[in-house]
Amino acid sequence: MRGIEVVWLSQTDLTNLNAGEGEANLIDIKKYKKNGMEYPYVSGQAMRYYLKEAIRRNLSSDEYMCVPNDKGETCGNIKKCIGCDLFGFMTTIKRGTILLGFEEKGHPGGAVTRVSPVKVSPAIGLLPFEENAIVDFLTRRHRKAEGEMRGDIVNVEIGVNIYKCGMAIDVVRVGGEEVLDEKERTVKINQYLTDEERKKRISKVIEAIRYLADYSKQARLLTDFTPDVILFAFQDRYSHRLQKALSLRNGVLDLNRLEAIIRDVKNYSPKIIAGILPGVIENEENLRNKLKELQVEVKGTDEAVNEALDYLNKSLK
Ligand SMILES: [Zn+2]
Repeated sequence: MRGIEVVWLSQTDLTNLNAGEGEANLIDIKKYKKNGMEYPYVSGQAMRYYLKEAIRRNLSSDEYMCVPNDKGETCGNIKKCIGCDLFGFMTTIKRGTILLGFEEKGHPGGAVTRVSPVKVSPAIGLLPFEENAIVDFLTRRHRKAEGEMRGDIVNVEIGVNIYKCGMAIDVVRVGGEEVLDEKERTVKINQYLTDEERKKRISKVIEAIRYLADYSKQARLLTDFTPDVILFAFQDRYSHRLQKALSLRNGVLDLNRLEAIIRDVKNYSPKIIAGILPGVIENEENLRNKLKELQVEVKGTDEAVNEALDYLNKSLK
């Protein structure tokens, strides 16, 4: 197994998941433009944050995941730290720090970068912003000394939408590091973890998709932003092709596109799993039939995640 690809749709109620630049009295929503129309999105950085926090919430007492310091730098110890291993880092290591590969004299010190084995896409809103949003206002009340109340009005853009989200796990790099063999002029991957430990870390990422919760503004805009329609592919090749499988127009999923992508990805994926929450897309019945025709098991979203975890445990070697 070289890669695990996941792509999903998530429908939200009225919310503002990721604010844009804003103005003094406006909290806007991050938007992109397509053919002149505006659509909301949630940045990849925010998606990574949600994923990390979901993993952090479910750590057991013997598991470690560092918290970045005030410069945003992390520990850089991929053997010990689940976060640094899965999400990579750019950090400065102090001279003499004992790290993997530098056990004897310690690290010579300097900037160190690790490319994240877990990659996420921004969450792309698929319904036009204008037709699916409103400006709400909230008042920030201040109590003046004399007991009189004053309020500043702040406008907040909120909207409903269906977002497409994606994730890829570069399986062979979890728990491992690419090292240059100077003599042979090749690169190879040094594995620092056992297969059991690697499975456990990858499982955390897959499981976390079900428990994303740490979005901003939840005090007033409580939102579920976990998958409603989800596809997993366990791949013998590392590829991002599955990310194009879910294309939506006016709430209807493009089944020709889905079929073409699944037939493509199947060439190198011994296992594809689908999960569907009823009532999210318009042509749900046709989608179920199409997936059956393509011999992709269709389950509930929770069962799909569990099935993915089972498959990972059975097959990662
Ligand atoms: Zn760390």
